[in-house]
Amino acid sequence: MATIREPARDIPVLMNVDIVVVGGGTTGPIAAAAAARRGKTVALIERFGSLGGNLTLGLNTKPSGALVGGLPLELWTLARSNGAAGDDYFAGTKTGKVKIASPCDPEIMKMLLTRLCADAGVQILFETVVSRPVLEGKTVTGVIVESKAGRSFIGAKVVIDCSADGDIAAGAGAPFVMGSGGNNAETQMQPVGMYFTMSDVDVVELAHWARQSDDIPAQAIPDNDEDLDYGLWLTGFNQTVRAYRAETKIDLPRENITLKTANGLMYVNATRVLGVDVFSPTEFSAAIVECYRQIEEYARFLVKKVPGFAKAKIAQIAPVLGVRETRHIQGEYTLTADDVQGHGSFPDTIGADVSAFDVHDVKGADVDFQGLRPYELPYRCMVPLGVEQLLVAGRCISADHVAHGRSRNMPACMATGQAAGIAAAIALEHNTTVRDVPIDRVQSALREIGMPLRADDLR
Ligand SMILES: Cc1cc2nc3c(=O)[nH]c(=O)nc-3n(C[C@H](O)[C@H](O)[C@H](O)COP(=O)(O)OP(=O)(O)OC[C@H]3O[C@@H](n4cnc5c(N)ncnc54)[C@H](O)[C@@H]3O)c2cc1C
Repeated sequence: MATIREPARDIPVLMNVDIVVVGGGTTGPIAAAAAARRGKTVALIERFGSLGGNLTLGLNTKPSGALVGGLPLELWTLARSNGAAGDDYFAGTKTGKVKIASPCDPEIMKMLLTRLCADAGVQILFETVVSRPVLEGKTVTGVIVESKAGRSFIGAKVVIDCSADGDIAAGAGAPFVMGSGGNNAETQMQPVGMYFTMSDVDVVELAHWARQSDDIPAQAIPDNDEDLDYGLWLTGFNQTVRAYRAETKIDLPRENITLKTANGLMYVNATRVLGVDVFSPTEFSAAIVECYRQIEEYARFLVKKVPGFAKAKIAQIAPVLGVRETRHIQGEYTLTADDVQGHGSFPDTIGADVSAFDVHDVKGADVDFQGLRPYELPYRCMVPLGVEQLLVAGRCISADHVAHGRSRNMPACMATGQAAGIAAAIALEHNTTVRDVPIDRVQSALREIGMPLRADDLR
């Protein structure tokens, strides 16, 4: 690739804080609030103009598992009391039932996340992109940011990378594996996709049809029609999509569609693009163009073929592409497929998780969504190899491709964010590094805010 030389220049120091959290998505606000509640100065840096990332902007809205304690549960309880989420429900799958937190209203959730952080004293910096870390030797000392003010530096004693892609950890030289490993984007990463919503769906008609259909193998349908606004969740439609494809010859690459309701809208997860290198600006953009084509076609399919959709219209398209998998930063420990089956127990557990196991085949064959036993998330998965004063939390923690099918779910991401914020604060309180933080202190602090740490706590 051709290059140019960027001239060296002095840039202003925007601020110095105890802890910088990069990325205000699903994980970052939880990390930032957890650290700020322990009295630390925290800057939360987000490239978009609102918080929540995939949870809100991505229109994802539904953690695939129960929120079992601590700040994640506090947030969902707050959402419920604000009319922005319903009750937990049980969704049927091939291997039994999984308890799932109800979807939230993403617009209200943006406000709740902002309030959570602002009330804790977090300095939120919106529309600010972190372009790279700054290091002294192997120790991260802050980040370079780009905003309307230009380029500047924010100094920090600890940086928590919640960018989902592990941008800061990779930039600092931490080793990582892309997806399932190897060099071929075609076979490496779970597919990307883009949510959209539809208004004017007759959910009662849809629910009545889905109850007796043999084309919806995984479903949660509340008994009362009044509860359908937040409680309807349907996964399937494969036969109907196949028949429509055969009839129309329209290219609908994904046969398996998930529908869920939140606050009167129908959220549709149907689009799929395989083999995208999301770090290539042109491939990334081409994937968005393809998602827009698919959204139009899937919406037309639903209107024509699925009961309850006759008068439905597209209401919103997620303003961001949904990326399921990129870098797995290599940490002191790598979570394995066996671990997420609930077989192991870790002395440094920072949270028990009951998220579903949710792998979208890299070749597009199918979605494997299963309920499994609870498992534990070890702290070492958040401590990258070879870099000091840096933690990773959220989608990019150290987990192999299969384990990531569970740990990428939002309950696990939020649990790692919470633990990272608390661990960073406790490391500073003990004048030690995040690698050497007294883990028993972190665990006590987590227990104090009601976070179950042992898988057995959830069995
Ligand atoms: C289509 C799709 C469907 C899914 N369905 C479910 C589901 O039903 N249930 C479930 O539990 N999980 C689901 N997942 C997975 C889950 O949503 C994600 O793994 C999780 O939300 C990731 O959280 P995160 O905080 O790591 O990343 P995000 O929520 O993506 O947050 C990352 C944030 O960092 C910001 N950022 C990134 N880089 C920078 C930078 N350099 N500077 C500043 N800011 C930056 C981004 O703007 C974003 O706000 C799904 C994922 C996809 C893509």
